[in-house]
Amino acid sequence: MTGPTPMPPSLWAATAEPAPEIDRLASDHTTDVVVIGGGYAGLSTALHLAEAGIQTTLVEAHQIGWGASGRSGGQVIPGIKYDPEGMRELFGTDAGDKAAHAFGATPDHVFDLVERHYITCEATRAGWVQPAHSKLAERKALERCRQWQALGADVAPLDADQMADLLGSPAYHAGWIDRRGGSIQPLSYTRGLARACLAAGVSLYGGTAVTALRADGARWQLPTAHGPGIRARRVVLCTNGYTGDLWPGLRKSIVAANSFQIATVPLPATLDATILKGGVVASDTRKLLAYWRRDQGGRLIVGGRGTFNEPSSAADFNHLNRILARIYPQAADQPIEYRWGGRVAITQDFLPHVHQPADGLSVLIGCQGRGIGLQTAMGRWLAAYLESGQASDMPVPVTAVHQIPMHSLRRFYVSAMLAYYKVRDLV
Ligand SMILES: Cc1cc2nc3c(=O)[nH]c(=O)nc-3n(C[C@H](O)[C@H](O)[C@H](O)COP(=O)(O)OP(=O)(O)OC[C@H]3O[C@@H](n4cnc5c(N)ncnc54)[C@H](O)[C@@H]3O)c2cc1C
Repeated sequence: MTGPTPMPPSLWAATAEPAPEIDRLASDHTTDVVVIGGGYAGLSTALHLAEAGIQTTLVEAHQIGWGASGRSGGQVIPGIKYDPEGMRELFGTDAGDKAAHAFGATPDHVFDLVERHYITCEATRAGWVQPAHSKLAERKALERCRQWQALGADVAPLDADQMADLLGSPAYHAGWIDRRGGSIQPLSYTRGLARACLAAGVSLYGGTAVTALRADGARWQLPTAHGPGIRARRVVLCTNGYTGDLWPGLRKSIVAANSFQIATVPLPATLDATILKGGVVASDTRKLLAYWRRDQGGRLIVGGRGTFNEPSSAADFNHLNRILARIYPQAADQPIEYRWGGRVAITQDFLPHVHQPADGLSVLIGCQGRGIGLQTAMGRWLAAYLESGQASDMPVPVTAVHQIPMHSLRRFYVSAMLAYYKVRDLV
């Protein structure tokens, strides 16, 4: 059994590879490292720890992939919010270049794991394109492309005609293609990582929600919601957008924002050949960005911001229908087969965060909505750091947990930010 909570309905839940057979924790358990959270971050950390010979247990409150990892857009996108020169400004020239190379290569970590562990997940590496929504955005996108090119990345500018041809839409200006990117079926990938964890010797439990972290000498004691306790020398928290109150202040160090998606029925042959040629995936340059791709069944999947609360009806997804119609008027009347959403964790500085708020406790949080490559790679780097004790193994420093000021007002803050971005996106 895979835990008591079924996956929320989605295209991915309907078409994924079967879940691995795992149980909920049945009795008290002692381990060296316990990882909390069964998404890309937790699974990658656990896998790489186990491969380094470290006794590792992973617990997930629901099913493996129940969080954002099983519901994402499946676009494997290199980099982070900052361009290479932005990373130099942030970290200094050498560390900035090192960070740019590391973050630019995050898709390699995904596709290497897929290959090494024979993960069946519709993996395709046809590239990610970023079309510009305005002339100003076009200049910035082409400059971004130039900076990556200067680092030797496999990227290229696309003029407006090339972009229109590739997308099958004249809705955008020029932009660029990053051939390091690609796509996966995200729930199948997550389940594949779980199988790799099992094969590497990780003790894996679903339906096992940790309710507290209690330091007890050189050990941690972790009670669970259904009874059995876990004793571990080290704890790694990978709960991201689903972070609760296990550690004081952590939930308030991020904004947990909803992202929603819709998927059409498989497109008819007349549209099929023209939309997203060659299997590229796309997200645009808007602050309130739209992202879209096809699946192997031929559906068109469009994602964007979500409502602040969990969706309650199809009406909560209407803005995505409008985006679809704006980009692809020719597909606007295609019935919508699936609607779903999930939560991402945004940090105030838009960087992924590694914290060590107490001896033997590590936290990996803050995927910024680009977590497939990022959280997979961060998990690997964090595991290397835990093994070696060398923080230089990671492209970001270990930092203290800082609560976002006036976090309880985040609902208003997010609404104000959305309104501001809507205006910005007009230029
Ligand atoms: C709709 C949507 C579309 C997205 N599209 C893309 C995309 O196309 N490309 C991309 O790169 N990124 C995308 N993202 C972002 C990406 O999905 C996330 O960055 C990534 O999944 C985060 O992985 P994670 O392992 O850190 O967290 P999660 O996958 O969210 O996992 C956290 C887990 O922790 C568990 N948990 C929480 N508390 C406890 C507890 N007390 N005990 C036990 N378990 C607990 C939760 O149940 C959850 O399963 C998207 C996200 C969403 C929501």
